[in-house]
Amino acid sequence: MMYGKLLILLAASHLVFALKENPSILIIGSGPSGIAAATRLWKHNFTNIKVLEAENRIGGRVHSVKFGDAYVDLGGEWCHGKKDNIVYNMVKEYNILRHTNVNIQMYYANGTLLGHDIYNNLIEFAESIDASVNNTEVEEACGNFASIGECFDKRFNSTFIKIYKNDSGKQTISLEAKEWLQNYMLGYDSPSTLYDLARRSSYKRCEGDLALNWNGRGYKTILEVMLQQYPDKNKELSVVNNILFNKEVTRIDWGNNTQVDVLCTDNTTYTADHVICTASLGVLKSSHGTLFEPGLPAEKVDAIRKIGFGAIMKIILHFPYTWWNTAQAYAFVWSAEDKEKVLTEFGKGPVKNGRSWLTTNVMFFTAENNPKVLISFFAGDMIPEIEQESDEVLIAGCMYMFRKFLGGTYKNISDPDDIIKSTWRTNPHFRGTYSFEHASHYEQGLPDKLAAPITGKNGNPTVMFAGEATHPYYFSTVHGAIESGYREADRLIHYYAPE
Ligand SMILES: Cc1cc2nc3c(=O)[nH]c(=O)nc-3n(C[C@H](O)[C@H](O)[C@H](O)COP(=O)(O)OP(=O)(O)OC[C@H]3O[C@@H](n4cnc5c(N)ncnc54)[C@H](O)[C@@H]3O)c2cc1C
Repeated sequence: MMYGKLLILLAASHLVFALKENPSILIIGSGPSGIAAATRLWKHNFTNIKVLEAENRIGGRVHSVKFGDAYVDLGGEWCHGKKDNIVYNMVKEYNILRHTNVNIQMYYANGTLLGHDIYNNLIEFAESIDASVNNTEVEEACGNFASIGECFDKRFNSTFIKIYKNDSGKQTISLEAKEWLQNYMLGYDSPSTLYDLARRSSYKRCEGDLALNWNGRGYKTILEVMLQQYPDKNKELSVVNNILFNKEVTRIDWGNNTQVDVLCTDNTTYTADHVICTASLGVLKSSHGTLFEPGLPAEKVDAIRKIGFGAIMKIILHFPYTWWNTAQAYAFVWSAEDKEKVLTEFGKGPVKNGRSWLTTNVMFFTAENNPKVLISFFAGDMIPEIEQESDEVLIAGCMYMFRKFLGGTYKNISDPDDIIKSTWRTNPHFRGTYSFEHASHYEQGLPDKLAAPITGKNGNPTVMFAGEATHPYYFSTVHGAIESGYREADRLIHYYAPE
């Protein structure tokens, strides 16, 4: 026993010795990647750490809010898959994650419930487009199109005219459902149009259930696990005390090759041996030119420009009572006539190219363990305007849709008594939701270029980059963000204690 303790002490003192002078490290951002980097470094005895966070909370694009009976997520919501998924692996022993049962019912603008075959055929079509990515055979059939949008448009009408050649009613409705399917597909990758989405991809899915939910605890649970606040609060890592809020960094001066100076909007300054920047690609796109002094290397600027960064939006409503079927989710198919009619009949909120914002809705579904709450997704090119709309108009728009599409089925629809909405696109600390591969600038290896550290004269990593967009194949996800944070922490750990 004593001998074992002695070995542990020796091992620990070796690491401290190897670290020499406990280098100073600044981590910009306390999203999943920033928390991953901070906790891994802390556990390896790097204690001279500060995390500078622009918002007044941790989590970044993981933002779980108590709403109704449980937590709802304004940002990341599902753990996508099991195999090789670091999020799944970190929590599997706690048995928190649950399969999400999304039984989507499609309603038509005249209030009728559409047959399941229409929904199934639409999803099958979306999957066939998805399968065309990186597939040279389909490439030929699609005429070497660069974007998902071009392939989608080339094949949609002919596919549904053929499927429903003997049923003109269903043929019309399925053709009218084209816009809904586009919204649905936009929701996955977040571009404003499918024409921006490349038909080449390096993204890898983790095998297994792609929609594991947090059973009402929210995705914030993963932050609690990393900080060791869950399952036992007494084991919390004290690095949590080194996170400073309302610290918006406006300048990262890396010109002197040895140390980096960082300036915040409140005029505080920090100097460190190493900086790990985890600001989103949206933030880098809008401010890398002023944020870094000297400017970033040309290759990195090129990656920042070429990788896509888009936005989706959630509107979450709480009702005094449950008037819908909580085992179902709801998708709405607008008829051509009603798409026109809504412009005058409802007429509030953003309109673009003759389309009402209401037609950009993807679906409504019940929140986990939260039977009085409906969560809705919106996607496409109107997100910036919808985010800035008043709560009154957003509620009125959702109510207009409920009464129009579901009024025939549910006779006791009530107004909501509370609403929360996401504003990722307009918030300057995010400027969008997640990265995607852009059709006009697709190239392999862009995330690696974004991730490449800036090194000083001796090869010492001075400014490092983490965050979902820097992951070569899990970009756009929480598990990708966490892996990227660990990657940069390991870079420093190996730099100071080479094997
Ligand atoms: C609506 C939505 C739904 C999503 N759904 C899923 C999902 O179901 N499953 C999934 O796996 N992923 C999902 N994602 C993606 C996932 O949430 C992100 O990939 C992940 O959270 C990104 O983590 P990050 O650490 O890279 O960046 P962030 O979480 O953005 O963290 C960066 C941090 O840096 C801070 N910051 C920015 N600029 C500055 C500055 N100048 N100074 C100081 N601090 C700054 C920000 O405030 C932020 O806290 C979703 C995201 C959104 C928005």
